[in-house]
Amino acid sequence: MHCTMKLFDHPDFDQHESVHFFADPATGLKLIIAVHSTALGPAGGGCRRWVYANEADAITDVLRLSRGMTYKCAVAGLNYGGGKAVIMASEAAPKTPELLAALGRAIDSLGGAYVTAEDVGMTENDMRMVQQETAYVSGLPQDSGRAGGDPGPWTALGVYLGLKATAQHKLGTDTLKGVRVAVQGVGSVGGGLCHYLAKEGAEIFVADVNQANLDIVRRDVPVTVLSPDDLIAADVDVLAPCALGKILNARSIPTIRAKVVAGAANNQLEVDADGQALADRGILYAPDYVINGGGITSCCFEYFGAESDQETRESIEQIPQRLLDIYKEAAETSQPTNAVADALARRIVAAGKVS
Ligand code: NAD
Repeated sequence: MHCTMKLFDHPDFDQHESVHFFADPATGLKLIIAVHSTALGPAGGGCRRWVYANEADAITDVLRLSRGMTYKCAVAGLNYGGGKAVIMASEAAPKTPELLAALGRAIDSLGGAYVTAEDVGMTENDMRMVQQETAYVSGLPQDSGRAGGDPGPWTALGVYLGLKATAQHKLGTDTLKGVRVAVQGVGSVGGGLCHYLAKEGAEIFVADVNQANLDIVRRDVPVTVLSPDDLIAADVDVLAPCALGKILNARSIPTIRAKVVAGAANNQLEVDADGQALADRGILYAPDYVINGGGITSCCFEYFGAESDQETRESIEQIPQRLLDIYKEAAETSQPTNAVADALARRIVAAGKVS
């Protein structure tokens, strides 16, 4: 078969150290693991299980996500490099114990260059199954107060703190009381974020394509449900993308009415230039991998054996200051915030150590 797909010339290849393809005919597993950088430590990053339209989409996703992990870990000050795994989900490859075991063996074969955790489509219990085949895994179920566990709640904490700091910076408010926030996607992170926002008296608008997740949030939190199509352009102060990537693009940006975009989703910008487009419209964008670093912070401390969650919490509490430093430099140098964050991350990786 003639293959037209290029990897080394792929626009998102960006000097990946290695990209690994695994197929397990017995379980139907089709898995790609991308290791972008191990300059600062083992490549940390979750495993995503998703239905991709084709292989090219899966490759683009894994390359973009793993590079994002390098930047995320560097800016978060972690001794972790960046990597990611994607499983091409299909009816022919249900998430069975055997498939998870094959995933574990594939990760193990990389000898610790890549350390996995859960991402979209994977759970803490899945990580427990993976652990039966490899030690290169984090995000395992933990007792309360111990380091680690499901990264989602830690990501939600960091996004909440970062959103609050960004809103204060842009809107000049001391509190989120009465601030109108639109949350796209109320899964693990978006749902947790809604709880924090409700405690502060924010007015919350949500949209999700999954009715069950909407029902769970609505049970405990006063929210107004909008259609997914209406949420992006809702008349709100803050837009918090907490679903999937590429949501900020040439089509959506002109319609956004929020003054702040601060949310959990990875790779929110379709292309880097979308950061400039947001800035041109006077919208303050919290770079995704800076604000959503709480989960990988927890995974990293867990992987390196921290006894309690105190260090994780202290590190996540620095997210607001990291963002404010980026906003300051962006204003002083007339650059979009994503460009300032990228340059910062590259400087840290090039130095080969976190401060
Ligand atoms: P999740 O699967 O638990 O939740 C995602 C939610 O988004 C689901 O409820 C889904 O139905 C919804 N959704 C999907 N498409 C949508 C659409 N078009 N409109 C509205 N809702 C839609 O995932 P999660 O763990 O909460 O992660 C959310 C995002 O944050 C992802 O981009 C993920 O990569 C990123 N992220 C997660 C973590 C973490 O610790 N879980 C860490 C960093 C970044």
